[in-house]
Amino acid sequence: MDTLSRELLDRVDAGRDQALGLLQALLRAPSPNPPGDTRSVADLIIATLRGAGIAPQVFSPHPKMPNVVARFDGARPGRHLVLNGHMDVFPVAEHEWSRGPWSGEIADGRIYGRGACDMKGGLASLLAAFLLLHAVRDRLAGRVTFTAVSDEETFGPWGARWMFEHQRDLMLGDCLLSGEPSSPHCVRFGEKSPYWVAITVRTRGGHGAYTHASASANKIAARISKALEEVTRIPVRAPDNLVAMFRDPDIARQIDEGCGAGHAAVIPEVTLNIGRMSGGLKMNVLPSECRIEADIRLPVGLTKDELRPHVARVLAEFPEATWEEISPPEDAPNWSDPDGEMMRILSCTVQDLGRRAPVPVITLGGTDTRLWRHHGVPAYVYGPSPESMGAADEYIVVEDFVHILRTHTLAAARYLAAWSGEGR
Ligand SMILES: [Zn+2]
Repeated sequence: MDTLSRELLDRVDAGRDQALGLLQALLRAPSPNPPGDTRSVADLIIATLRGAGIAPQVFSPHPKMPNVVARFDGARPGRHLVLNGHMDVFPVAEHEWSRGPWSGEIADGRIYGRGACDMKGGLASLLAAFLLLHAVRDRLAGRVTFTAVSDEETFGPWGARWMFEHQRDLMLGDCLLSGEPSSPHCVRFGEKSPYWVAITVRTRGGHGAYTHASASANKIAARISKALEEVTRIPVRAPDNLVAMFRDPDIARQIDEGCGAGHAAVIPEVTLNIGRMSGGLKMNVLPSECRIEADIRLPVGLTKDELRPHVARVLAEFPEATWEEISPPEDAPNWSDPDGEMMRILSCTVQDLGRRAPVPVITLGGTDTRLWRHHGVPAYVYGPSPESMGAADEYIVVEDFVHILRTHTLAAARYLAAWSGEGR
């Protein structure tokens, strides 16, 4: 291992308790979205950066949803690495938790709290890595930008999307590293994309006993839900290198180990979830209106324009139905090179740290990383296991957190050093 990596590892070990304390403090600052108020988390991050002598910029397009950006330059010109995390977390059903969701409690080798996994664990790691890199900046080339954004969990407009619309130059770089959950066994290099459709069925309606007098909007909605399954059978043509990866049973097994059983199989598939269905006034009234919200997920290799005619054809069979697309227009399946430089650096780094090489994986849900990919910036995600993501008693394993911090720090330093020829 090169001298700089060794020194950085020593610094991670020396600052381990401090990094754990930072994560605990982030977990103790509630930021559920909705409503998405992240001010207490942002204040903590701003204070931490200032404490290290770094002056962050803060952008608050929504008064309760600030975005924090900090950057520094190395000793020589070089490449620009961007680190990104979000400060908001899923909401909490407090009665389901056996630990305090805002406690940051450490027990049984885990740190508990809403966001421990998605993604205050990754956020604390990226922030700690940023500070460690700043401390050795006289030996780095290029630039590092740290971005902590709001409004990610609802695909909202006030976080990374706003920053890309109004402060694009601050967000763009040569490569993005995110700490969203991926599992330490996997690196996320791409994402499926949501295609959301709202369907409204209208009939005349009437008395519940007079079923001869009007069709039932609810029954038609049920038939539509079934008929829409057809979209899951659409043939998909993914790029050849990705198809080879999808078909490799060894990779599939490792993806399932890291991300959960069955994950690998649905990566190349179109999936359909009828997320909401609401219709009718009361039991003995024939419903005149029913609304369906269908969450279709597009795999890499299928565009909205290709999918849309299939949806239209299915719905054309139901003259009582009208429909509209409600997913963000800019969304599309997105991916970076699964053999790209940061992927290779992450893989080498994880192995140098004594763990198995992570496999590249396309994930089923979406993150802000898609914004960088849409702008042509390669984006990779390395973070904790997604197992407890969004669930009660969410946690991150302490040793995984430390491993992720080591990986983020070393991979970032190596990416910057690789350009100048320094290091390995
Ligand atoms: Zn997340």
